Amino acid sequence: MARVYRVDKEAPDPAAISRAAEVIRMGGLVAFPTETVYGLGADALNPSAVERVFRVKGRPPDNPLIIHIASFEDLYSVAEELDWRAEKLAKRFWPGPLTLVVKRSARVPDATVAGLDTAAVRMPRHNVALRLIEAAGRPIAAPSANKSGKPSPTLATHVIQDLGDEIDLILDAGPTDIGVESTVIDLTSEKPAILRPGGVSREEIEAAIGEVEVHPSALGLLLHGGEAPRSPGMKYRHYAPTARLIVVEGELEVVRSAVAGLADLLMSRGIRVGVLSSDGYRYRANVVRDLGSRSNPLEAARQLFKSLREMDDEGVDVIVAEGWQEEKGIGLALKNRLRKASGGAVLSAEWLLRGLKTSPSGVYMEVMGT
Ligand code: AMP
Ligand code: MG
Repeated sequence: MARVYRVDKEAPDPAAISRAAEVIRMGGLVAFPTETVYGLGADALNPSAVERVFRVKGRPPDNPLIIHIASFEDLYSVAEELDWRAEKLAKRFWPGPLTLVVKRSARVPDATVAGLDTAAVRMPRHNVALRLIEAAGRPIAAPSANKSGKPSPTLATHVIQDLGDEIDLILDAGPTDIGVESTVIDLTSEKPAILRPGGVSREEIEAAIGEVEVHPSALGLLLHGGEAPRSPGMKYRHYAPTARLIVVEGELEVVRSAVAGLADLLMSRGIRVGVLSSDGYRYRANVVRDLGSRSNPLEAARQLFKSLREMDDEGVDVIVAEGWQEEKGIGLALKNRLRKASGGAVLSAEWLLRGLKTSPSGVYMEVMGT
């Protein structure tokens, strides 16, 4: 079992940081908080440490890691040919939840970037993360500290559940602030493209560097046959609870009727149902978790992964979730995470309501895949 050090978020105990840094330098694995989610850190320049990250997470070897740095000089040591956009974004949003995909330097081992000629780099805005990177004296490669495919950890207990037996040390600084991962933007193409929406919004990025593309996968749509994934992570199911997750999208009032109807139908067939609600709307279900007011998407983002994990802990078979359609700000990330967590099980509320009236067993079969 990993040692767990409880540390203060603003002023972590230097002794705890220095032990954790020593683990990193020796090639070990340390889970640590960032402002987005908990990361699983390894020396980014040590291929065997990085390979161990892939092993314990069960991460596909072609899905590269984000390199976390604590100073602007570090950017120049892991990246090359940085243009004005990279510099502008780094100056404007670092430390913070924005990851830049740039051309990598020869210093970065193949294992860290899965053999690509680019690297994803970010400077996190969390004192524990920054102090750890500084003390280790090298960049730290860190994916989210969960088993591959599961919801990302926003609490140290989530890390313990998924990886406690397989890693060396966990720095616990309480819940993370943002609750969803960083925005990933590719700056190696003519027109910058958001590969994954996250803690920095499209609007904020466009205010800094002008128009950017949003890759279709960033909307949470599944990639179809011929389309090349620009970020290897796009190919894989992500953020998924153990329970089957169904996302219901449409106009909010219709969504609510459809979610309530579907929950009733499933419970009447003996299925244990969890509902992911908002605005405190009162559903009848075995378990209900509420993301809070729709006018506060930041709070909803903070609660999302924890709520999914809690419903798994409660042993539900199916989670029916109200979709998130508002793309403003962090809304785009919420929509993306929910859609991806469902593995594409996104239903139109209107279709669902019609089906519940005309053919409940058809709906049941569609939802339960039988
Ligand atoms: P995670 O490690 O869970 O935070 O996910 C990191 C995300 O960044 C994944 O979707 C990766 O595929 C993506 N990523 C990392 N490195 C690169 C890169 N060089 N080019 C494109 N995407 C990358
Ligand atoms: Mg992840």
